[in-house]
Amino acid sequence: MKFISTRGGECVSGARAIVQGIAKDGGLFVPEQFPQVTREELEQMLPQSYAERASFVLSKYLDEYDAEELTRACEQAYSRFEGEDPAPLVKIDAGLYMLELFHGPTCAFKDMALTLLPYLLRKGCDLCGIKETVLILVATSGDTGKAALEGFKDAAGVKIMVFYPDEGVSKMQKLQMATQEGKNVRVVAVRGNFDECQTAVKKIFTSDACKEELLKKGVVLSSANSINFGRLAPQIAYYFSAYLDLVSSGQIDMGAEVNFAVPTGNFGNILAAYYAKRMGLPVGKLICASNKNNVLTDFIRTGVYDKRREFYKTMSPSMDILISSNLERLLFELSGRNALRVQMRMEKLAADGVYELYDEEKEQVRELLWADFCGEDETVETIYEFFEEYQYPMDTHTACAMYAAGNYIAQHEKDAAPMVVVSTASPYKFPQDVMYAITGNDIKDSFKAIKHLNIATAMKVPASLAKLREKPVRFTQVADKDGLYPLALGFAEEK
Ligand SMILES: *Cc1c(COP(=O)(O)O)cnc(C)c1O
Repeated sequence: MKFISTRGGECVSGARAIVQGIAKDGGLFVPEQFPQVTREELEQMLPQSYAERASFVLSKYLDEYDAEELTRACEQAYSRFEGEDPAPLVKIDAGLYMLELFHGPTCAFKDMALTLLPYLLRKGCDLCGIKETVLILVATSGDTGKAALEGFKDAAGVKIMVFYPDEGVSKMQKLQMATQEGKNVRVVAVRGNFDECQTAVKKIFTSDACKEELLKKGVVLSSANSINFGRLAPQIAYYFSAYLDLVSSGQIDMGAEVNFAVPTGNFGNILAAYYAKRMGLPVGKLICASNKNNVLTDFIRTGVYDKRREFYKTMSPSMDILISSNLERLLFELSGRNALRVQMRMEKLAADGVYELYDEEKEQVRELLWADFCGEDETVETIYEFFEEYQYPMDTHTACAMYAAGNYIAQHEKDAAPMVVVSTASPYKFPQDVMYAITGNDIKDSFKAIKHLNIATAMKVPASLAKLREKPVRFTQVADKDGLYPLALGFAEEK
């Protein structure tokens, strides 16, 4: 299968799309068409393990990757998760389910893709005949950085450098990154917010001068951000798997529609659900949940994307985003794959901070998506009420999705489709906020909060977070957003 740029300038193999990360014209790579999964194939996937299902979905897009090798790579990646099933579907109530995607090495859903990306990238380099060292640059709002570092640490022929907004991530997230082990890793805090951090990194990726200079040093750039198709593809798999779990446990009949509620920031996770739908999975409504940074809620309700608004720091930092990069892929589909229109809108967004959909596109958006946002108080209340009712502790991001799902259900009595809420982080990753929500106790120290949360909820503490306390801090550098390239170059030159 070939991949094309959303801005029209390129057509490459899947391996090349993954290695390169972003198209030369600044667009995102999308499959030339959506591969279809038939009803028969869905039936065949029913008895399969998660890794086998994932490998099957991936091979639909990445046909130049050896299928058996891909299955082994999936098995290896998902063997790093705690528990039997890397993506368990938990029944909460009649018609209400939680898809837990936080059992990986860093306790957030980013692990679903980033434990597999190193294989996809390394193999991609082989398939493309690339001999240079690969330098991965990551801009993170918190969870991607750590998951990428864990995925790529000590990988042969790869270096990874992570930039995060100095004041924009939680204490736990910062500590997870600052204590990262591995010889080929570097972590830098950037003065500014996530959007500024992401824009600065994107600038390096789209600069021919930077890339030429790096190539002279024997280094090529790649991205582990969610704009990379190698991030998106493994995420499509868990929507299939959740659906199949509903069928195999007798909760639904094969073919019945299921709604998904997704806590959304960069629009990568929910886009994967859309891709699953386009591949033939019976997906009903997609509930797009935002926090107080509700640019997507407004976009879905009105068709106007307007980033000219205040940026809030919230207790769900991985959703503190005003420019949702992966939305570009949806725009491409909404426009009937009109690359010129996508390009004009992205230029308008960069220049004016706003663009508006055409009427028939707005119609499609409303058909496909429903949106809501969850403020800070509502986040706390949702965690509290949900724990009271079900004794199920949720993290702050998942709470936003649960809040939106609850409002959707209340306002759409006619829609009887089961609701799967996508749970994107362990409550232990945001222990102070969750502890405060559940008990009202405001505990300043993260590790004390973990301990008390464990007592209050009896939920098992993930091993990786329990160990964090003993680890030495390795990275303390803080940089200005205009000074990232020299740092990347210096790191590239290190032996
Ligand atoms: C990254 C992240 C999100 C947002 O996902 P997107 O794919 O960026 O929309 C939500 N919750 C958590 C915990 C995350 O780490």
